[in-house]
Amino acid sequence: MIDLETPVAELLDSTHGKPKLLVVDDQPINIQVMYRCFAGDYQVFMATNGEQALSLCASNPPDLILLDVVMPGLDGFEVCKRLKANDTTAHIPVIFVTAHTDPAQETHGLNLGAVDFIAKPVNPDVVRARVKTHLTLKFQSDLLRQLVFLDGLTSVFNRRYFDQQIATEWSRASRSNEPLSLILLDVDFFKLYNDRYGHQAGDDALRLVASTLKNSLRRPADLVARFGGEEFACILPETSHDDAMVIAYDLERKIRELGIPHQSSTVDSMITISVGLATRVASSGNDVNELIGLADNLLYKAKHTGRGRVCSGVLGATT
Ligand code: GH3
Ligand code: MG
Ligand code: MG
Repeated sequence: MIDLETPVAELLDSTHGKPKLLVVDDQPINIQVMYRCFAGDYQVFMATNGEQALSLCASNPPDLILLDVVMPGLDGFEVCKRLKANDTTAHIPVIFVTAHTDPAQETHGLNLGAVDFIAKPVNPDVVRARVKTHLTLKFQSDLLRQLVFLDGLTSVFNRRYFDQQIATEWSRASRSNEPLSLILLDVDFFKLYNDRYGHQAGDDALRLVASTLKNSLRRPADLVARFGGEEFACILPETSHDDAMVIAYDLERKIRELGIPHQSSTVDSMITISVGLATRVASSGNDVNELIGLADNLLYKAKHTGRGRVCSGVLGATT
């Protein structure tokens, strides 16, 4: 449980830096009041109309929005409605700040998805306390949303997230005609590793393999997921076959160089992986499962041609 007496900075340590507040009000004087309330503990962003608020949310999503109701152009209710209708902004808590204290208005705002309603003129202590409460809840739900997609043992993404992302990247690649590369890799003779060193050591080895894979991928769009048991997947968007090949060989080498002893392996005296790399190039393939199937076949080929190696192919090319 999070103690609401915890200083904001401490509470938000886990979010890497000060939380971002967006204050939306057409009266600069009201913005100044809010700025004075929050500048110490938060990064405060400001917008003086609805359109500006929506574009700020799209480019640099805040952690919470303090939103005026009555503004020329898009009013606060409309801004809230649009934020809640968009998947990428729907989870940002909105607090209405308004001079109107009509219960019907308040109900309307809450029904639109706002978390709170605060009357102007604001009391700085009250508004600070409410913001902190709602941010705490927001960070808790962010964490839960992340946990749904993380593998419990290795902390890399899980299969559910992989399935979602590979479909998204496939669609994106189909539209843009950019290449998409997929690596599937599997630890060699891992059953024998468990048998010899114990399941606990096996778990430790999987954690180390996972973190090594994750640290080896440099581009923000690259992603590592646990595909199952001792098998991992790397999605490399907008990565050509040649570039992905360099990465695949690098991963194979880095895992070998971890030097995790594996005396029961016939590949090497340490843990090795077999790697299948498949690339979709412009308009090759009709379905994401063809890419996954090819990577899987290539992994199988790597297993059956000696393990501890990379086999690669391009979707649609005859091999
Ligand atoms: P190959 O080189 O053909 O891949 O052989 P292998 O022994 O690695 O493959 P196999 O599929 O026969 O065995 C996989 C092993 O991985 C068996 C299973 O107990 C182990 N494994 C899967 N998930 C975990 C895990 O979370 N922790 C541990 N310690 N072992 C796991
Ligand atoms: Mg294996
Ligand atoms: Mg396996």
